[in-house]
Amino acid sequence: MGIPWWLFPLAGSLVILVFLGTIVGVIRQRRGRRPTTISEESSDQFNSFARELVHEIRNPLNSVNLNLQLIEEDLAAIETEEANGVLTRTRRIRSEIERLNQILTDFRRFTGLPPLSLRESDIGALIEEVLEFTEPEAQIRNIKVVRELENLPSIKLDPDQFKQALWNLIINATQAMETGGTLTLRASALDGNIQIDVQDTGEGVSPDIADRMFDLFFHTKENGTGVGLAIVKRVIEGHGGRVDVDSAPSQGATFSILLPVNSR
Ligand code: ADP
Repeated sequence: MGIPWWLFPLAGSLVILVFLGTIVGVIRQRRGRRPTTISEESSDQFNSFARELVHEIRNPLNSVNLNLQLIEEDLAAIETEEANGVLTRTRRIRSEIERLNQILTDFRRFTGLPPLSLRESDIGALIEEVLEFTEPEAQIRNIKVVRELENLPSIKLDPDQFKQALWNLIINATQAMETGGTLTLRASALDGNIQIDVQDTGEGVSPDIADRMFDLFFHTKENGTGVGLAIVKRVIEGHGGRVDVDSAPSQGATFSILLPVNSR
C-alpha cells in the first residue's frame, strides 16, 4: 500500500509547527531566566528584530493554515473513517496554529509599543473613560463596579498607553471573577505619587505565581498569552512608576500602580 497523499503536506505542517513552537519556547526560556528590564526591551534594535521575526514567522504560518484548510476540504469529501480521523488531527493542528498566531499578535503588541508621548493629563478623567468602557461587559458578567476616586492632580503621561495598561489590569480582574464579584477602582494622591488600585474578588494569586506574573509569556489561563501584564509593567515603569500585586489564593487580587506626579 502506498503512502497516502495527504501525509506529505501534513508532515510538512507539523515540522513547521514544531519549529515555531521551539522558537516561542526559547523566547519563553530566555524571559524566564532574565528579568524584564525596560532599557533592554525598549531598545530599537530589539524591537525591529522582533517585528521582522514576527513577519517572517507569520507568512509560512498562514500558508500552512491555508494548506491545511484545503486538505480538510478534500478529506471531508472522502467521507471514510480513516479520513475523519485525519480530519480531527488537522483541526487540532489548526487550533494550535491559531494559538501561535495569537501569541505573535500579542508579542507584536508588546514590542510595537511606540515611545511614550507625554502630555499634561487629567488622570481621573482617563480612569473614568476606561471604566465607562468596562461597565457594559462587567454588567454582563455580574460584576459590580465600585469607584473610590479622590480628586487627583494633573500629571504628565502618555494617555493612550496609560489607558492600555489600566485596561489590561481591568480585563484580568474581570476574567478572574468568572462567577461575578466586585471590581473596585481606587485612586489617591500621596507624597508626590498617584496610587491607583485595581481590586477584584476573584480567585487570587498564589505567591509563587505572583513572582512571575509580570514576565513576558507567563500565564496560567488556557487561552492566555502572558503579554498583558508585561505591557502594564513596561508602560508604568516607562513613566518612572511601578506596579505591584497584593493577593492570597481565593481572596482576590489588588494590582497597584504608583506614578510619581513630577517624574519628568
Ligand atoms: P494573560 O491574560 O494572557 O494570561 P497576563 O500577562 O495579563 O496574560 O497575565 C498573566 C497571568 O497572571 C495570568 O495568566 C494569571 O495567571 C495571572 N493574573 C493576572 N491578573 C490576575 C488576577 N486579577 N487574578 C488572578 N490572576 C491574575
